[in-house]
Amino acid sequence: MDNYVMIQFFEWYLPDDGKHWNRLKAEAKHLASLGVSGVWIPPPTKGSGTGSVGYNIYDLYDLGEFDQKGSVRTKYGTKEELKEAIEILHQNGLKVYADVVLNHKAGADETERFKVVEVNPSDRTKIISEPFEIDGWTKFNFPGRADKYSSFKWNYTYFVATDKDDSTGREGIFKIIADGKDWSDNVDSENGNYDYLMFADIDYNNESVINEVKQWSLWFVKELNLDGFRLDAIKHIDEKFMRDFVNNVRVSTSKDFYVIGEYWNVEVAKLEKYLDDVDYNLNLFDVTLHYNFFEASKKGRDYDLSKILENTLVSLNPLNVVTLVDNHDSQKGQSLESCVEDWFKIIAYAIILLRKDGYPCIFYGDYYGIQGENPMPGKKELLDPLLIARKNFSYGEQIDYFDHPNVIGWIRKGDEEHKESGIAVVISNGEDGIKNMCFGKEVAGKSFYDITGNRKEIITLNEDGAANFTVQGGSVSVWVIKKE
Ligand code: CA
Repeated sequence: MDNYVMIQFFEWYLPDDGKHWNRLKAEAKHLASLGVSGVWIPPPTKGSGTGSVGYNIYDLYDLGEFDQKGSVRTKYGTKEELKEAIEILHQNGLKVYADVVLNHKAGADETERFKVVEVNPSDRTKIISEPFEIDGWTKFNFPGRADKYSSFKWNYTYFVATDKDDSTGREGIFKIIADGKDWSDNVDSENGNYDYLMFADIDYNNESVINEVKQWSLWFVKELNLDGFRLDAIKHIDEKFMRDFVNNVRVSTSKDFYVIGEYWNVEVAKLEKYLDDVDYNLNLFDVTLHYNFFEASKKGRDYDLSKILENTLVSLNPLNVVTLVDNHDSQKGQSLESCVEDWFKIIAYAIILLRKDGYPCIFYGDYYGIQGENPMPGKKELLDPLLIARKNFSYGEQIDYFDHPNVIGWIRKGDEEHKESGIAVVISNGEDGIKNMCFGKEVAGKSFYDITGNRKEIITLNEDGAANFTVQGGSVSVWVIKKE
């Protein structure tokens, strides 16, 4: 079996031209040729305004089919174009994972009057007002869809909190008062209780909501022929609901449904606990590894590279992890800005792409470039050799040489299935470096070249099967076997 790789096929500042599903379709063949096996697509569900990236979600059932919120299409195109793109991706052997936004809803059709209390934003368990009435944006009737697929209409009883009183224009976190309604106990504990994130927060203690969202998910998977979900903002959603929701999708669809959740917390113990709580029925992004990369990229040679994998999810739970370098939230100008510095990007990609553990995810912005106010050129030419190295060479037993603060390396010995596979990786965040690494006597005399092109020499294994593999300062070299 070949190695898996996922691509996150969007960045925050894509043009609002409705052509993205067509771009995806056009890239299917190219991505497959590089060994990309799965595509994480942006939320295909209608957002609250034209140009919405998709996280301010309005209607789960509108995939670019109804004239709602200013257009039929979403930022990315129409439902028909999306279905065509998925068809082509499947023909090329790629899996499709859709971004699913379940924590909140935005852009309600009407306001309604109901009672709330205001809570302290930095400790949401603290009420800071007497009960009072607001005009809240919580009525979702979807007039443009006219009950197609579902006649469910949302009102304030299906939400826990909202952020604006339309009668006064006042903003805050307004917790809704209704029978038995409270924050979920099963969410992240940051800010006292992190159930609330933004807009109108959905109440996953409400049976009607639970049933409607579960029913929607089965329709969604079937309608688009999906292979998996990327679940947005799960630290703000009741984890018991999440566990049942994922189980329900998996049991109801015959296929091996893949689920990756975004639990954005740098404390790896929290990620591990979450995995345990949901019975390991989903996977999490390695947030700690991302922040290690970020820190290493800022500190340069002062960062101890031998600790780059310390306390990461991939080192502790290698079977339930997606590794990443950056994403649409960590990129410049976004909510979790922590963009890995340019010089370190390719080093970080070598670490996620060329090691045994983790399901690596490459970011559209890193591959194709970022648009908007902080543009960044794509690194296609630098990433392609790493993808090829992953696809063709990075197999077999792994031996680490994480024995120096500024120069680390590892080898993979290759396997039977992939002819002439095997790889030696050396990374430096300081001066030019050398790492003596050993493949064993069986392969003595084999020659290697650096597939990144950073080093030009040919390196030959001595009679013990070892050699000094070289690297330029502040870069990575990826040595692969030179065919005779
Ligand atoms: Ca919530």
